[in-house]
Amino acid sequence: MADSVILVTGGTGLVGSAIKHIIDTEPAGSRFGKRAGERWVFVSSQEGDLSDPAQTKKLFEKYKPTHVIHLAALVGGLFKNMKYKLTFLRDNMLINDNVLHSAHLTQTKKVISCLSTCVFPDKVTYPLDETKIHLGLPHESNFGYAHAKRMVDVQNHAYKDQFGSNFTSAIPTNVFGPNDNFELEGSHVIPGLIHKCYLAKKNSTPFVVSGTGKPLRQFIYSYDLAKLFIWQLREYDDVEPVILSVGEDEEVSIKEVADAIVQAMDFHGEYTFDTTRADGQFRKPASNKKLLSLMGGFEFTPFDKALKDTVKWFVENYNTART
Ligand code: NDP
Repeated sequence: MADSVILVTGGTGLVGSAIKHIIDTEPAGSRFGKRAGERWVFVSSQEGDLSDPAQTKKLFEKYKPTHVIHLAALVGGLFKNMKYKLTFLRDNMLINDNVLHSAHLTQTKKVISCLSTCVFPDKVTYPLDETKIHLGLPHESNFGYAHAKRMVDVQNHAYKDQFGSNFTSAIPTNVFGPNDNFELEGSHVIPGLIHKCYLAKKNSTPFVVSGTGKPLRQFIYSYDLAKLFIWQLREYDDVEPVILSVGEDEEVSIKEVADAIVQAMDFHGEYTFDTTRADGQFRKPASNKKLLSLMGGFEFTPFDKALKDTVKWFVENYNTART
């Protein structure tokens, strides 16, 4: 019998499948590889709809996890978030409450829930750090999703204060990599642009990027993020969240992203920016100081290499990718 059962909710998504990849491919027993006595279980919504309390309880009774990495969420890009605010608020609040409550009832030893830098206030001093989550209202474009995610931090503190629970959270910046959602409209910026550029090349049509291309973002490769989650699971025991990100000096503009996609896709057609579309927040640099001081350093995959590998994965898996 396994000494620890690590249940990964949202285990089939972008981040969950990356954790599975790292656990399966890193040397057994190494810092990020599978350890003796561990059983990793990766679940999708097919094993249970976590917005439903009874199905969530059943899932916990079935696997009896000792640890949970809670990734499952209703996730989407800027336009989807603006259009479906209540759905993003309600679904995510239900999912998070059911997971934390079931973990509490079954005496799960540790839960790491996944937040997002969207939780931070719109009007705040930069860089973002772990102390600034509740200092003001989030940006109105994703206020449903952001409020639902913020509540997880509130719940974690309440569980700790009332029951001594070891529930904590991670705050990744924008993630990209294999198995992302590459839909043209509802997805995040990198997978959406990769798909658009792929079609522009295939159909000999212009590659049109929404917005001015000027906003800046910090992007983390899903395989790097997976290692950081595994570190947090094994080596971090505190209720306060940790920002999982590349350094704040590694911001990339949307234009630089689009340029890198054009190059990786080997696209030579017309390439323009549709400046009538919304840009979202201009920038929101986040500090990874806490992470690096706790971990003692970490080698991130260079952005261009990670992007090239993601484009390669998309082209090779076009028929089965989420498009
Ligand atoms: P994906 O959309 O790729 O995957 C979502 C996962 O959640 C899928 O496995 C999905 O299962 C599962 N899921 C969704 N709804 C339910 C439900 N009601 N019940 C059970 N499972 C459900 O998401 P990501 O991997 O991109 O995101 C993982 C986490 O990281 C999320 O919490 C997200 O908020 C956070 N995050 C993501 C960022 C990003 O840039 N992608 C940035 C910052 C944070 P199924 O496929 O069966 O629907």
